[in-house]
Amino acid sequence: MELPKLAIAALGGTVSMQARNAGEGVIPTVSGETLLASVPQLTTLARVTVETLGLLPSASLDFQCLLSVLSWANYQVEQGATGVVITQGTDTLEETAIFFEYLWNHDAPLVLTGAMRSAKQAGADGPANLLDACRVALAESSRRRGVQVVMNGQIHHASHVRKTDSLALQAFSSPVFGPTGLLVEDHVQYLRPPAPRKILPLPQATSQNIAMLEASLSADTLLLETILKVGYDGLVIAGLGAGHVSEKWATVIESIAEKIPVIIATRTGSGATAQATYGFAGSEMDLIRKGACMAGFLCPRKARILLWLLIGCQRQHELASYLKATSTLKIDA
Ligand code: ASP
Repeated sequence: MELPKLAIAALGGTVSMQARNAGEGVIPTVSGETLLASVPQLTTLARVTVETLGLLPSASLDFQCLLSVLSWANYQVEQGATGVVITQGTDTLEETAIFFEYLWNHDAPLVLTGAMRSAKQAGADGPANLLDACRVALAESSRRRGVQVVMNGQIHHASHVRKTDSLALQAFSSPVFGPTGLLVEDHVQYLRPPAPRKILPLPQATSQNIAMLEASLSADTLLLETILKVGYDGLVIAGLGAGHVSEKWATVIESIAEKIPVIIATRTGSGATAQATYGFAGSEMDLIRKGACMAGFLCPRKARILLWLLIGCQRQHELASYLKATSTLKIDA
């Protein structure tokens, strides 16, 4: 029987990093071909094509670069790939995952992975993560699930996954929702059925800028007041608690929301924003009255990506329905 086709692309990140000379810091230099050579078992599972599309730390990836990666991945599926795997830095993985999730219009899985330990470090996790990601990308049960992140033996859905630890091996989690699946003795096991997805067309505009500011105790309004003046097209606030800001911030947000979309998310790292609980000035009820949208379960960073994409395809009027879809994603659909 012919083995399935699998396409892998390397973008850089710790998984591709090593030091040029002893005592120097690690930098991305390891190609996709070399990563592939670290998982010889893969040749018994798939016919693999591999490309090095970039060698960047993930902080330096940008939307333009992700759109080129997406077009490469689309082409691989059109050419018969059963699944696509992308290796990249973990620092922005939660953002690239949701970016691709909103644009990935295939039944075939798109799986992202990386590593917390660099290529030459003792106990490097890159090869195991890559092999697991390939297993997930090849599994029939991964079809129609959109974009998944595979790290440290767990499968996380793009909508929920977050980097919740800076250096630990177990750096990724999906607060409230938990992982969508696990690798158990090399087998892909999902813990729940696929949830409905809401896909966007490719953005026609890419020059829009979305600001993101975090609310904090006794915060001034200096930066907030510049948002319209410097020409931002949208604003995301990482709000306090269930999506709150000070009264001072609420007044400025009202004037901003008259002109551009404003999303209020929670800065807590877990849980949803409220809708109808608190009524004080700066509360979610007040902010909704003042024209802002609440992010639900979407974290501030993912909300910023959604807003960038919606503005890019002129669908900002659908913001509330996209936020609602993410908020009501069922764990046991
Ligand atoms: N620490 C990061 C990583 O895990 C570096 C990056 O995101 O490129 O890959």
